[in-house]
Amino acid sequence: ETMTSQNLIALEDQYGAHNYHPLPVVLERGEGAFVWDVEGKKYFDFLSAYSAVNQGHSHPRIINALINQAQKLTLTSRAFYNSELGKYEEFITKLFGFDKVLPMNTGAEAVETAIKIARKWGYEKKGIASGEAKIVVCNGNFHGRTTTIISFSNDDDARKNFNPYTSGFISVDYNDSDALKKVIEENKDSICGFLVEPIQGEAGVNVPDEGYLKACYEICKANNVLFIADEIQTGIARTGKMLAIDHEGIQADMLILGKALSGGAYPVSAVLANDYIMNVIKPGQHGSTYGGNPLACAVALEAMNVVIDEDLAKKAENLGKIFRAEIEKMIPEFDFLQSVRGKGLLNAILINDSPESSTAWDLCVALMQNGLLAKPTHGNIIRFAPPLVINEKELNDALEVLRSTFSEF
Ligand code: PLP
Repeated sequence: ETMTSQNLIALEDQYGAHNYHPLPVVLERGEGAFVWDVEGKKYFDFLSAYSAVNQGHSHPRIINALINQAQKLTLTSRAFYNSELGKYEEFITKLFGFDKVLPMNTGAEAVETAIKIARKWGYEKKGIASGEAKIVVCNGNFHGRTTTIISFSNDDDARKNFNPYTSGFISVDYNDSDALKKVIEENKDSICGFLVEPIQGEAGVNVPDEGYLKACYEICKANNVLFIADEIQTGIARTGKMLAIDHEGIQADMLILGKALSGGAYPVSAVLANDYIMNVIKPGQHGSTYGGNPLACAVALEAMNVVIDEDLAKKAENLGKIFRAEIEKMIPEFDFLQSVRGKGLLNAILINDSPESSTAWDLCVALMQNGLLAKPTHGNIIRFAPPLVINEKELNDALEVLRSTFSEF
């Protein structure tokens, strides 16, 4: 018996925790920049699973790697060596220019890993007094959903009634390097790291001024503070370069990757750092049963080679310019359309309305009906982030869907 979208939504509603508020569409199949619902209707995917499917849905090379490895060996735990891990580790560290990688599974796990390493480094290498290590974070951040990570969120939904919180974090305004400098100078002996998103994705594609990240990096360098880049959403070619910090020509002390590291085929995340940092972690001090498993390694290796071979960074750069230029043209035509911002193919439009209004949600429902999937964030912002394999014709067709939907409002 085949089930309708309505039946399947009812099942999730009845049996699943209500920790998400999805658009009413039930997807069954994907290919490249497109997905299909259970009734066979085709949609442009302009969310890309929050930038996890940069390589496009079910990329044949990635799926082949997944199948081939799944037929040989999937999981050994790190109690033993496996045939894929070392090859992947060599590849990924050389690609990003680090001595070492620590493999994990989800984004939040990799952020937790980076926090643990930064604190341990703070005590053992920087000489911070026991219990005093602090990490500077930014207002409006999103780094995941664990108890420690939500402890330094300032989103009330993310935090409320999940206390008591983890201490040791200091918040400063995003896009304000003077604020970072001030707080580091005031807490010189206790700050071990600065954790930052090169573009704040969940906050609504908040792009900082040019030079901000470089200035922060230099402040960190001058004060022996680790510059920790969370590129889980911005990395892997999304913003027009392999990493968003590449736009400013800087190398993080710790780099956090996830999402598109596997092209959406498997949960794979990583923390990269040089030996003087990573070597503070000794056997038994951190790990994960699934982290670094052969299936994850084979998938991530192939997913990253797809990004390189298909020059997805260049594609994101070029198509992003077209996208923003076309939306700019629409702004004078539609009253509710306030602005467009972004880098590469990580973009958002701002709706000229309060965050409490339903305009952005209603627009996304109308876009869905017209065959394009996107999701509002923070009430009046809609993010547009298609798979980077989308071609120029497909992008223009999608822009037509946007234009004709906007004209219904
Ligand atoms: N960090 C950033 C910048 C993210 O955008 C996300 C997810 O949206 C995360 C961390 C958390 O990743 P995960 O949902 O895989 O735990």
